[in-house]
Amino acid sequence: MKTLLLSEPGHFERTQTEEPGAPAAGHATVRIHRVGICGTDLHAFNGRQPFFAYPRILGHELGAEVVAIGDDVQHLAVGDHVAVEPYLECGTCQPCRSGRYNCCESLRVLGVHTDGGMREIIDMPAIKLHRSEELELEQLALVETLGIGAHAVGRAGIQAGEAVLVVGAGPIGLATAQFARLAGGRVHLLELDAGRRGFAEAHFDITASLTPGVDGPATVGDLRQHLGGDLPTCVFDCTGYHASMETSLAFPASGGRLVFVGFQLEKIHFENPEFHRRELSLLASRNSTATEFRRILALMESGEVDTTPWITHRASYDDVVEIFGSWLAPESGVVKAMVSF
Ligand SMILES: [Zn+2]
Ligand SMILES: [Zn+2]
Repeated sequence: MKTLLLSEPGHFERTQTEEPGAPAAGHATVRIHRVGICGTDLHAFNGRQPFFAYPRILGHELGAEVVAIGDDVQHLAVGDHVAVEPYLECGTCQPCRSGRYNCCESLRVLGVHTDGGMREIIDMPAIKLHRSEELELEQLALVETLGIGAHAVGRAGIQAGEAVLVVGAGPIGLATAQFARLAGGRVHLLELDAGRRGFAEAHFDITASLTPGVDGPATVGDLRQHLGGDLPTCVFDCTGYHASMETSLAFPASGGRLVFVGFQLEKIHFENPEFHRRELSLLASRNSTATEFRRILALMESGEVDTTPWITHRASYDDVVEIFGSWLAPESGVVKAMVSF
């Protein structure tokens, strides 16, 4: 079957791999139709993804169709269109036993720690497949990205009316902003790139987007001015950039919280007395859960979450090898690229 293999940084190979056999009990095989591309994939391509082993089949944002089901699979039928929850937990470690399987101690994420969906057919545990009768395959491939934002907002426990700052308006920032708004937050965006800022304002009804100074990122003073004297009580850093993540520690009001939605490799430093004085809460957010997948599908089906404008670039199996590298350039303006298989 057709497979796209990232054999080493910067080099995709169109190749053939063996199809999985008939699904075991509790499993299903799915045909991959759409694969969303995100920062994780781009960093893997340019060799800057930490702990990444080559060769690897990328692909963790998947819109798929069920082609066979094993015994004991009740909730799926052949032909169903599904979003794939790409997180394979061990089921037995301490976080798994307490229901925190999104941060399983030996979690394997499709396309990162184990081969992903840039191939025609994959075998999956059936509980990782979430069906929708209404959504397009392309929309199904966006559920995983939305899940990152939904989970981050859940971690923070956003209250109606509270002032929220989202730093970084890439797909994860946009997803986080959307769910923070759904939770009733008054959402402000901080994004250095004018193109991304404009995109967020045009497509996401986020009118209070904050324009940083031309010389660099916004200061606490800028923020106070923008928010009428107050500071946000919750800040989400969705950049994955060291400098931004250190700066974001200055933004929450006393008693507030900061959620690191993105991550990077370096150590983050902060002033302990300042952290203490403002009694901040610092939270990490990792992946998402099956409950969040199902909620997102319902929100997309009802139209409360509209992701139509997200997909700015498309390619097919036949031309993605030539096109993929161009998506790394900031001037490409990629918000979300989608590969069809
Ligand atoms: Zn992703
Ligand atoms: Zn586990």
